[in-house]
Amino acid sequence: MSNKRDYYELLGVQRNASADEIKKAYRKMAMKYHPDRNAGNDEAAEKFKEVSEAYEVLSDPAKRQRYDQFGHDGVKSAFGPGGFDFNRDFSHSADFQDIFSSLFGGGGGGIFSEMFGGGAGARRRSRDGAQRGADLRFDLEIDLEEAIFGVERNIELPVSEPCGECNGSGAAKGSSRETCRQCDGHGSIVSNGGFIQFQQTCPVCRGEGTVIRTPCRKCNGTGRVKVRRSLTLRIPAGVETGSRLRVAGKGEGGLRGGPSGDLYVVLHVRDHEIFDRQGADLACIVPVSPDVAALGGDVPVPTPDGEAMLKLPPGTPNGKIFRLRGKGARSLDGSGVGDLHVRISIEVPVHLNSKQKQALQTFAEACDTGNYPEAARMRKKVNNFMARRDALKKQS
Ligand SMILES: [Zn+2]
Ligand SMILES: [Zn+2]
Repeated sequence: MSNKRDYYELLGVQRNASADEIKKAYRKMAMKYHPDRNAGNDEAAEKFKEVSEAYEVLSDPAKRQRYDQFGHDGVKSAFGPGGFDFNRDFSHSADFQDIFSSLFGGGGGGIFSEMFGGGAGARRRSRDGAQRGADLRFDLEIDLEEAIFGVERNIELPVSEPCGECNGSGAAKGSSRETCRQCDGHGSIVSNGGFIQFQQTCPVCRGEGTVIRTPCRKCNGTGRVKVRRSLTLRIPAGVETGSRLRVAGKGEGGLRGGPSGDLYVVLHVRDHEIFDRQGADLACIVPVSPDVAALGGDVPVPTPDGEAMLKLPPGTPNGKIFRLRGKGARSLDGSGVGDLHVRISIEVPVHLNSKQKQALQTFAEACDTGNYPEAARMRKKVNNFMARRDALKKQS
């Protein structure tokens, strides 16, 4: 008397199919015919409805047995005649939730949305209500020495812990959380979007399934209080600005027995008064007197290994860069040591006394154009320019 199609046939499985086979078959069908993937396709929508109904019955051993015995008349579908009712036991069946969360990537907002968005909505809740604590981000400024050599730092970070007054329940002493009337404690309600209905988080209890009538005064019903937690952080040698340290389990505490989140420490290395840094390479500018630049000599340069002597050749020009291999910083992965790039900056002496002035005067008189080839080249170019200028002036 029913014109409905056979449920096994709809799912394309044998009558003796296992629960697993039925689930797999439904998953495949649901993927194919889900309205989200078939916008405006009535045929797909109808098919989706049929296979969902078939699965609802065949996935429930009791209903399946009745169906096997009595056919369609033996089972009263939650879908009702003609209607499509996501409500009732159907929408809360663990199996369906599994299937839909795997279909649409639901559940678990991922680390970064929580870490940077801080949204409680993205927190994963398991079926027993346990909730993993949020990951925390902590920005820490360190100086270059700490980045190069590594350091142990004590940090104080604000985290929320379960409230001691109410043991994290959020309900005032002597009261307790009550089942949410809006969603009957399911944490989700059914929203109506045309002929098809979708499950969404209950807005009254925000998915908790319970509500607080008398909130705890200490935590305002949140169940958590902010505390400062101090923590010793081991920063390895070689870190850079943007390096991220993960400290497992040091994020916010979980709720109802859920695990704690992780702590991510993002490092920022302050500018240094001597060194610039590029990965494992360091660079610095070393001032040198004109006599050392001209005569050559040993110039002390700072390196992470201590002071090193740079042998300056005679006639070193201003701005010349020397590369000291292996005198940079150690790389974070320990794969090697960078170089140190030393730029020579010739410093003109100031505050000369009369004796020094006399000595420089004597030196200058002993010089000729051969001592200053760059000035000589410039002189030649200037002479050329003036000659061209005079010639053109004469013409006009
Ligand atoms: Zn409290
Ligand atoms: Zn609710």
